[in-house]
Amino acid sequence: MKSHSERIPSGFGKGWKFLLPALGLIGLVLMVVAVGDEQSSSGKATAGSKTDVSACASACALPSHVDLSSGKFPVQHSEEEWRARLNELQYKVAREQGTERPFQNPYHDNKATGLYRCIGCATPLFSSTDKFDSGTGWPSFSKPIDPRTLGEHRDTSYGMIRIEVHCAVCGSHQGHVFPDGPGPGGLRYCINSASLDFEAADSVEAILELVREWYATALAE
Ligand SMILES: [Zn+2]
Repeated sequence: MKSHSERIPSGFGKGWKFLLPALGLIGLVLMVVAVGDEQSSSGKATAGSKTDVSACASACALPSHVDLSSGKFPVQHSEEEWRARLNELQYKVAREQGTERPFQNPYHDNKATGLYRCIGCATPLFSSTDKFDSGTGWPSFSKPIDPRTLGEHRDTSYGMIRIEVHCAVCGSHQGHVFPDGPGPGGLRYCINSASLDFEAADSVEAILELVREWYATALAE
């Protein structure tokens, strides 16, 4: 039986050999363009009302018994319980305002779609749609999913004036926020991976569903 190449007319032989890599190259270019389109459209979608995770969360009402403005965290555990719930690094960072090492933490370069929950109480704090590469070696976000769930206080440690951010539901330290972010809000939330628990989602809509679920059942027990 003749091979595929033998059945090609001889006059076409050389051209065909050149055509194959050319077709491969065109395919590659089309793939890159498609991925680029997808990335830019998801970037645009982040700003749109339909798929803006933060806008969705702001519209979700916190259950009436949950008061995040009193300064008293709704989720409370004893030190013993916190130590049992968290590993050593998580405890040091989240409960003792520690800092993990840059670049040597699981989420600084995580580009997967999904939700970042508080390690202490599973509150959805950040979305992958607001994550960007700051080059600092820590996961960085342009905004929280819901400002109500992220408390702030002025941190004057190490001779610097910084704004510390923590989970307003359980008090777990998250990191700091700086006024040099790339988004329209101009903020950069520099967060420790140890304070977060990433939950992958198939799409932005799936993230929204997880956020809605949390608001529907938040602190129900
Ligand atoms: Zn929390």
